[in-house]
Parts: sequence; C-alpha cells; structure tokens
Amino acid sequence: MANIVIFFLLCFFFPKGYDNSEQCLSCEKVVSQIQNKIEQDVDSDDLYDLEEISTLVCLLKSDRWSSSPVDENVCRGLVQEFTLEIISILLRSKLLPRSICGFIGHCPKSNDTKDWNVTFPNTTKPPIMGPPKILPASPKYRILHLSDIHYDPLYMPNRTTDCGEPVCCRHGNAKDFSSNASGKWGDYRYCDTTLWTFENMLRYLAENFPNIDYVIYTGDTTSHVVWETSPEKNLLVANVTYQLIRKYLPNAKFFGAIGNHDPSPVNLVPPPEVDVGFPSNSIQWMYDGLADIWKLDSSQKTFRYAGFYAQRLDEDLVLISLHMNFGDSNNWWLLVDSEDPGGMLQWLVDTLQECEDANERVIIIAHQHPNGLLDPFNRNYFDIILRYENTVRAQFYGHTHEDTFLVFLDPSNPSRAFNYGLMPGSVTPYSHLNYGFRILEMDIRTKYLLNYENYIFNLTEANQIRSPSWYMEYSARKTYLSEKDYTQPMTAQDWANVTIEMQTDDVMWNDFLFYRIKSTNDPPICEDSCRSDTICSLRTAWNGHRNLFCL
Ligand SMILES: [Zn+2]
Ligand SMILES: [Zn+2]
Repeated sequence: MANIVIFFLLCFFFPKGYDNSEQCLSCEKVVSQIQNKIEQDVDSDDLYDLEEISTLVCLLKSDRWSSSPVDENVCRGLVQEFTLEIISILLRSKLLPRSICGFIGHCPKSNDTKDWNVTFPNTTKPPIMGPPKILPASPKYRILHLSDIHYDPLYMPNRTTDCGEPVCCRHGNAKDFSSNASGKWGDYRYCDTTLWTFENMLRYLAENFPNIDYVIYTGDTTSHVVWETSPEKNLLVANVTYQLIRKYLPNAKFFGAIGNHDPSPVNLVPPPEVDVGFPSNSIQWMYDGLADIWKLDSSQKTFRYAGFYAQRLDEDLVLISLHMNFGDSNNWWLLVDSEDPGGMLQWLVDTLQECEDANERVIIIAHQHPNGLLDPFNRNYFDIILRYENTVRAQFYGHTHEDTFLVFLDPSNPSRAFNYGLMPGSVTPYSHLNYGFRILEMDIRTKYLLNYENYIFNLTEANQIRSPSWYMEYSARKTYLSEKDYTQPMTAQDWANVTIEMQTDDVMWNDFLFYRIKSTNDPPICEDSCRSDTICSLRTAWNGHRNLFCL
C-alpha cells in the first residue's frame, strides 16, 4: 500500500518533465510493484489507511506548489477524489510501467502506447475551393463565444489573495481589508469568476447585443478548486451559469462542449468502452446532467454516450461539438485504452463525409485544441481536418485562457494554410487576465467568418470605481487583417500571413502579446527565440510537424 502513496507523490507533487533517470526509474519500480501486488481486492480498511497516509504525505510535500502551509482540506480532498480512480486505472492498464511513467510525465515519452487510425471512406477529396466574394448586403450571424467560466460560488471580496491554497479569495479564507485583498468584481491572481461579475457581463451583452443568434461555449464551468469537486457541485454551477445565459439572452441558441474541469475529479473521463470498476468512477452523471441542463435534442444520443454531438444550425450549416478529454494525457483513463475513445474521431469522419455529400458546411467547437493532445489522437484529428478542409469552415476552442489562435498548414505545401482555430480567452480572470468574451460575425450565405471583436473591462479600475466598464478591446479585422475589405472573408491563409508578419512587424507582435493576456498589464518580454517559438506553435496543429512550419 505504501507504494500507492508514492505513486500519489509522483502524480501530484513532482513537476512534469522531471525525467532524469533516477526519477523515471523509481516511477517505473513503483508502478510495476503496484501492478503486481494490488490485484487482490482492496478493502475499506486498506482504503482508509491509504487515504490517511497519502494525505499526510501530500501535506509534507505541498511546499512544491505553495509558499505557505497548505490547508489539510486541499490534500484530503484531492486524495479522496482520486484514490479509487487511480487504483481502478492501474489495475486495468496493460501498458508497461515505463509507458505509464512516460504518460504521466516522469519518464521520456515512449512509443509503445497503442497507435490507431480512423478509416476514411473511399471517396475523392473534392478540389480545393478558393474563398468566395462576400455580398455586402448578405445577412450575417452574430455568434457569442464564451469559454472557461470557472464560476466559484464561494468567491468573496475582502479576503486574502495569498491563502496557501491553489485558489484564494474565498469564503473560509482570512478576512483582509488592505489594498491587497480580493476586490468586489474579482482578482487577477489565483481567484475565479464571481456570479455577479458574470451576470454583469450578460447584462451588458443583453443591452448591447440583443440580436445574438448563437452562443458557443467551449467548457470548463467549475472553479479551479479541484480538491472540492463533486458531481452535484459541478452540475449545480453548470445549471446556474446556463440559467443566467438563458435569462439574459433568451433568443440565442446555446451549444456547449465539455472541458477538462467539468468531470469530477478533474480531467478523469473513462472512455465508454472501459469497465470502470467502482460505480463511483462512472462519468454518466456528467453526460446526462449536461444534456438535461443544456437541453440537448433527444436525438443527440452520442452526447449521453460519450459527450460529443452534431447539431444542425441552418439548412446547410452543422455545428460539431467534440469531447477532447479523450485525447488529453491528463486523463489517466487513457492508460487503460486510448484507441479512439467513444469512436468519436471515426464518427467525426463519417459525419463530415455526410456533410460533404450534402454540400453542407461545419463549424467545430471543443475545449482543448488538438496540438499537445496524445499523438495518435492529434495526428488523426489533423488528417481529418485536412481531408475535409472544404467542409470545415473554422474551429473554436477554449482551455488556454489566453487569447490566441492555431493555423493548420499543409505538410505537402507548407506555404498553404487549410484551416484555423480561434481561442477567445477565458471568462475567468484566472490568472493575471481580464474577464472577457468574443462576438463573431459570420456570412450566412458562404458560412465564412468576417470578423470577431473581443470585449473586456479593466478589473483594477472596476474594483476602485465600483462597477465594470466594458469596452471593445480590439477587432480582428482592424488589428490583423487591416488590408482587407468586407467583401473578403477571413481565411486560414489570412491567419498564416499574420504569423509571417508577426516575425518582422513589431507593432503587430506587441498587439498580439498584449491581447493574448487580455490587456491586463505590460506583457512579458518575448523576443528572439521566445518570439520564434511562439510563432512556431501558432503554426503547428499536429505535434508531429514540430519545426516543419517554423519560420
Ligand atoms: Zn479553463
Ligand atoms: Zn481547461
């Protein structure tokens, strides 16, 4: 049993990438001992001992991520939430200990995780179509993109912002009436969204954008208080935030995607094909709960099965919502089976083929963008977008909290961009960001995006003058596409050109850095290798192409 304690230690308290051979060898040793020894039933006494010891070890080692003593509740909560699932995962994983340690970041990544490929139908890719002209009088959709609300029901003003826990500014933290305390509308440090600020944002939207057609929401509704999650709490915040959106934007149609903070515990989502062992490991509550809250169509059976779905928006536009926890290495259930969980990417191929056959266009919403997800998942996803580039108009993601974008470049012709993804930044100010949202404009006839605008308010100022003053932070067309007029749509090639211009255009580069952190303060200096590495990442949609598209 002590070995599992060490495993907890490895998982929680040693930073990832800590792959010196000593660390890697001890991880391997521990994992192999666990796999050999805990094949008998784990009884409740064992569990109690395990949780007590793990909590103590967590407290002793918490100086790894906090300068102050950590509240015991953080460790106790984390250990209780994760214990059963980690045991179930280790009992079921067929991977070698070295692969497991590579997967969780304590050994170099190994290549013996299972490779897999989706099957493409035997159809010919249609010729690539150039962007059409936009008719000036053509009607437009107005789409609100929200991401990463991270609502903390216990947020309170006048609390300490340095509480020794991963999230502060909360009921239960020490009162503080100094200028360093949490403000009425939120705090730039490690503090999440208040309900009254979220409501203030929706009121501003209702007053200024009464004609929003669609709300797309790219996930992460619960706060970063990962040691206090539960199915009930997670669904409660999902329901409260959804009801507020409905109240202020009653005519807009809402479509959501699942984030890594929506399951409980955080990140852990068993693929539907896997036997989860303990009933409490099941994630069915999340699918059923969100399907009910978001009032998904009863025909969307794939959502209740595995959290993804397609929804028709008009006669030739389809929205596809994907569940990217199935490609995320923080989802340790993928140690048991990572081969196309839920059959989602094969379903994506089949759905896109149907849309291509019917001459329909698609937009994709999802939480994590593909680059950085597990390799077979990331590569298959890239190949799918390349095959169906004419059908997929654009992709919308969250998770980064920063405002950024991703260009998909053609490996057989690296100067050609064939698709792109946009990340608007988070609603939450966590961390060192302003609250914000994005309004997108889409040409209904061609389904091309024409522009987006980001909206924020200055949090420091709001806390001083007692109310947020929302304003348009920037418009993509003015900042990045200034040479274009409105008869030209926003294209993947435009975003590729932006990355090229950023190499030499200091004004554009500095704008990008400033808007990336939602105009919070002076952005960190990023020149020379930092600048070229960042631009390279914007141009890399599959990690296997690392360096291929660097400028
Ligand atoms: Zn988030
Ligand atoms: Zn996230």
